[in-house]
Amino acid sequence: MKITDIECHTLLAPNYNQTFTSSAQDSFVVIVRTDEGLFGVGESDVNPWIARACLEARGTHTMSLCAKDILIGADPMDIEGLWRRIYIGTAMHGRRGAFIHALGAVEMALWDLKGKALGKPVHALLGSNPRDKVLPYASLQPNGSSFEAYRDSLVAWAIRAKELGFKAVKAEVTMNGPYAHSGLNESYDRHTQVVAAVRKAIGPDIDLMVDVQYMWPDADTALRTIKDWGEFNLFFLETPIWVDDINGMAKLHNEAPMPIAFGEWQATRHEFVELIDHGKIDFAQPDVGRVGGLIEAKAVCDYARDRGRRIVPHCWKTGISISATAHLAFVTPHCPYIEFLPPELSEDTLRRELVSQELTMKNGEIPLPTSPGLGIELNWDALKRFAA
Ligand SMILES: [Mg+2]
Repeated sequence: MKITDIECHTLLAPNYNQTFTSSAQDSFVVIVRTDEGLFGVGESDVNPWIARACLEARGTHTMSLCAKDILIGADPMDIEGLWRRIYIGTAMHGRRGAFIHALGAVEMALWDLKGKALGKPVHALLGSNPRDKVLPYASLQPNGSSFEAYRDSLVAWAIRAKELGFKAVKAEVTMNGPYAHSGLNESYDRHTQVVAAVRKAIGPDIDLMVDVQYMWPDADTALRTIKDWGEFNLFFLETPIWVDDINGMAKLHNEAPMPIAFGEWQATRHEFVELIDHGKIDFAQPDVGRVGGLIEAKAVCDYARDRGRRIVPHCWKTGISISATAHLAFVTPHCPYIEFLPPELSEDTLRRELVSQELTMKNGEIPLPTSPGLGIELNWDALKRFAA
């Protein structure tokens, strides 16, 4: 079997809003096609136009080859060998960042394809002794452009998530800082009020995570607010300070009253070494697409395990990425939850419409899939409709 085409799809929701802090409004989807008619589908969370350029940019010398040219004509079953050839052959495209994020979509598609070719689900190709279920947490991004509307939207969705059977909820409480939602600019005290309202609404038995999206300028400022958050019994606090502040991360690990999570933006296993060994993060959050694909994500999981850390992968995308993330989690015992954007609790059109079949939740759990590949079906009409 040989690869005959790499289709790069740049997708954008028609109702996208540039003031929203939601990367689920666009998507980069790759379809790898072969001479035997089989195809695989992958996705990544990266600016889709940049990602397409990364894969299609023409090659000019041996350290800057065209990724698409390397792929076409190659054997799609040798995923690791192919990834390595591209990684080495495109070193001068940039060994981290957007190029790796784009390559992650190709790698994910190759696993889907290989699973279909062998008649096996992807988790069975990644590892042995899979768990019988994976727990998704409801990742909730409220709407509303005032403090009250934001708080009330978040509380209402948290209650709804509990009713839907989720065993954990993550609240995005970002009304200040670089990614403040809808232009909000609220005091840090008001963030405490929102977290308190969500905890009160869902009760003590649901795990609660909070994401503030790099809100505080430094660890000392963060600690002045979060030192009082012990009573909320948070499962983790995500990205409280800027991701390059490694010393600040370590300080938060030592002094904050809850575990600290980082890692959604990292590319390759190598970028996690600094976060885990020097930043002392408690939870590593590889995003399967952005980190470079399932092999890189698995390497991060293994590295974290060997250092006594846990994994809760990032995933703010459609059912393609969610399914890939779930397959990884089935063979990662130290992964208590995966991020899950519930379609019924999301404003994002692509999340709701791009995929017609995916791994779904029943009674708060995703059961072990048996269908070949990622177990997803694209909505081909939506793929055309959202083309940008
Ligand atoms: Mg986040």
